[in-house]
Amino acid sequence: MLSSVVRRARALGMLDKVVVVHADLDDIEWEGVKKLAEEQARLSGVRRFEVVRAKGGDLLERVVERFFKLKAKAEDKAREEGRDPATAKVPPAWPSSSARWCTSDLKRTPIWTLFTRLANELAHLGRPVRILNCLGQRAAESEQRAELAPVEIDRSASNGKRHVTTWRPIHGWSDAEVWREIARSGLPYHEAYDWGNQRLSCMFCVLGCVGDLVLAARRIPKKAAEYAAVEIQVGADFKKGLSMREIIRRAAALEAEQGPLRKPPRGTAMAGYVGKSTTALYLGRLEGLRAGLVVAA
Ligand code: SF4
Repeated sequence: MLSSVVRRARALGMLDKVVVVHADLDDIEWEGVKKLAEEQARLSGVRRFEVVRAKGGDLLERVVERFFKLKAKAEDKAREEGRDPATAKVPPAWPSSSARWCTSDLKRTPIWTLFTRLANELAHLGRPVRILNCLGQRAAESEQRAELAPVEIDRSASNGKRHVTTWRPIHGWSDAEVWREIARSGLPYHEAYDWGNQRLSCMFCVLGCVGDLVLAARRIPKKAAEYAAVEIQVGADFKKGLSMREIIRRAAALEAEQGPLRKPPRGTAMAGYVGKSTTALYLGRLEGLRAGLVVAA
């Protein structure tokens, strides 16, 4: 999405208006994501790269905090209704597709703080600032995402100082089109894809597919164990119908059957879409970009 947006902005002479923002989730997301986002911005010619971070604890700490709040609320309600508070049913504290507070707390809200800063910087214009919020969500990723509009006014992010429009420039792209664009641009992509990940989200995304979760548990068992410990603490599975204990069990079974995972060659994921020779050209181009010998397409 970034390379596609940069190409259009450059053609319009508006590249200086592009700002790349990364919402930092610390060690809940894959190692190197922040550095990669910064590098993608720099190599594509974007001068301003921002990192935002939610105040308070990380996702696991928030789950525990939320659990105790929900528990206290359920117990209060039971008391009011004359029931034994020990029998109060506590709703799940983990985020889910119907209560996706992780995205709003850890990504959307911190990014809005950048919108506020941008609007303040341009206050001299004397009118609401217009922000085009570009998101890489695609219809091919899920049924929910297929229902999203390619362009829409974001009323909840807008106020008297800023008018925010959401634009999903690659909403209609297939996976293959995304890989072709990465190959064309020469920009780096995260190695998690070479390991076999379908998506690069939190390592253990509550909405992630089973394959990605088991793979993550094989690669980062320490973090998987932290999730499993929180499951016990809050008395609920981290994903509806699938506990982290079960994911760890499946990861261990695969380890026993296949042995430890071996690092795949760089370019493995891309080669599956664009072929080995195009991938080899891409890797050479990426080296040139990193050495400052070529510019991003
Ligand atoms: S990647 Fe998944 S777990 Fe992480 S913030 Fe997004 S929806 Fe929540």
